[in-house]
Amino acid sequence: MTGLNIFFILKDMLDNVKAKKYQIRLAPESLLGQSQKTGLDYLLRLDPDRLMAPIYKGLGRAAEAKAENYGGWEEDQINGHMLGHYLSAISAFWQATCDSRLKKNLDYVVVELKSLQASNGYIGGISSQYFENCFNGHFSVAKFTLENNWVPWYVQYKIFAGLFDAFWLGENQNAWKVLLAMGHWVCRGIANMSDQDIQRMLFCEHGGMCRVLVDLYQISGEKVFLVTAERFIHHQVMDPLLSGKDELAGNHANTQIPKVMGLAKLYDVTADDKYRRAVEFFIDRVINTRSYVMGGNSRSEHFEEPGCEALSRDTCESCSTHYMLKLVEDVFAWQPREDLAAYYENALLNHILASQEPVNGNKMYFVPTESGHFKVYGTEDNSSWCCIGSGLENPGRYHRFIWTEFENGLYLNLFAASTLMTEDYCVRLLTDFPYSSKVLIKVERMKKEPPFLYIRKPSWSKNPLEVFINGEPCGSVDSGYLKIMRPLKEGDSIDFSLSMELCSYPAKDNPRRFALKYGPIVLAARLGREKMPPSDVVPVHLALMEWENPVIIPRVLADKDKPDSWMSMNDPGALSFRTQPGALENQQCLELLPFYALHHERYMIYFDQA
Ligand SMILES: [Zn+2]
Repeated sequence: MTGLNIFFILKDMLDNVKAKKYQIRLAPESLLGQSQKTGLDYLLRLDPDRLMAPIYKGLGRAAEAKAENYGGWEEDQINGHMLGHYLSAISAFWQATCDSRLKKNLDYVVVELKSLQASNGYIGGISSQYFENCFNGHFSVAKFTLENNWVPWYVQYKIFAGLFDAFWLGENQNAWKVLLAMGHWVCRGIANMSDQDIQRMLFCEHGGMCRVLVDLYQISGEKVFLVTAERFIHHQVMDPLLSGKDELAGNHANTQIPKVMGLAKLYDVTADDKYRRAVEFFIDRVINTRSYVMGGNSRSEHFEEPGCEALSRDTCESCSTHYMLKLVEDVFAWQPREDLAAYYENALLNHILASQEPVNGNKMYFVPTESGHFKVYGTEDNSSWCCIGSGLENPGRYHRFIWTEFENGLYLNLFAASTLMTEDYCVRLLTDFPYSSKVLIKVERMKKEPPFLYIRKPSWSKNPLEVFINGEPCGSVDSGYLKIMRPLKEGDSIDFSLSMELCSYPAKDNPRRFALKYGPIVLAARLGREKMPPSDVVPVHLALMEWENPVIIPRVLADKDKPDSWMSMNDPGALSFRTQPGALENQQCLELLPFYALHHERYMIYFDQA
């Protein structure tokens, strides 16, 4: 393909993006809006030159680096993975906020990468020798090492994904050029390898390499990317999924999710139904048989047997949920489903939102479910964990699933105060949800034949959803989405109420164990700060795993299935609840808060019935 052709494709793609562009802005004072701002401030504090430092080293030009690299995992063999996340995060935030400081940093990093890219197309934070050895077929492999280096392809995937986001969300054309050259470097190397050697190589964690190659194919139309992407399908784990078999137990969770994202994209470009079936099977097994109450999965980073919900301090790795949300967005685009939206809402509000510290934006790795433990966060300079990387991206993506536009209409999935603007219409969603159950949608501009509106009736809301337009009833539904049959007009006001109630969530593996939710919000009991560590912000993610727990955990004497008979709301503005005397052992009374709001103290999410 000539440079001129590439230019025209790029121009078409970007025009297309622009034409279709719709912007969703979170209300700044809303729950998600405030957390997004905290995440933005954190992102802007990072120094692009420090993030670039590993790239200089990887290319053998360390002396030219303009700053010292960050510590933690950034100097522990996966150097440069944070730069990939940074590019993705800054692009997502750019789409979410149009803050010009982001665009400036984004363009700066991409120009730097372009100037550093090797003539063969390689760009990365580790030596290309690890990959060259793979291409030559002379390499050693283990689950998390290739040539005795920690997950080289995983790092490469993060940089690929960052550049793709810089192009697609950040509208940076240079990123596409860097990406294309890097993609060709991969294709040339992989072409030398036997299928057997590729499968041996893929035993080591390799992120979503299949996915990014399909992304490259979809945009460039170059068949070589599709051929190479299909050679990146890891048959040992993907084949059982392709034949509808659940052999996930014992597998590292977040190694598999990005691989399945590759199958999802393969379905998009090939329409081969086997890929779609495998993806839908996978998400069903993860969501329904391996997730905790907050929507996170995995213990000690691994999938357990279906139906297991064992509590520990190393449950729910945050980056696993980050990728599950990306995957659910793909699957929802094939067919809107309320159960998928319910999973997304649950995981977003109760895991992703809960895993960012609300003042300084520090990010969590595991989310402990063992009663009496506490949240542990990474440092800004010396941690650089995987989940800090995905945690950088998360707040920039809060808005993505509130609305989804399809040809047949506009779907309202999440009840988050926001404004949706397209060239054709502008709608404002006014709500204080989850602190209020009332939702109002105002149609502020409607230029063109308006789409039908579909409003989600969440499965946790007991009563049928009844919707009013300008005060007049316009339909109700018991489950799924309500289609508003009347086209929308400028000036319309649409309103409805959700029914928020206390309910008990049964643990999958223990009939006497349960968690508590108010509507979709997971509640956690406050257990105080007794013998807390001097700081819960640490460089090493396992540092506080063995920290002493002096708290005696009370069991529940009252009926676990009727929480409204032994708990009452304390403060509606904080969604704080209190247990009544006699409900718990030892005459204890506990305060419960939304899990997302509980930080820097011990907590209990799962309760045991006495
Ligand atoms: Zn992680």
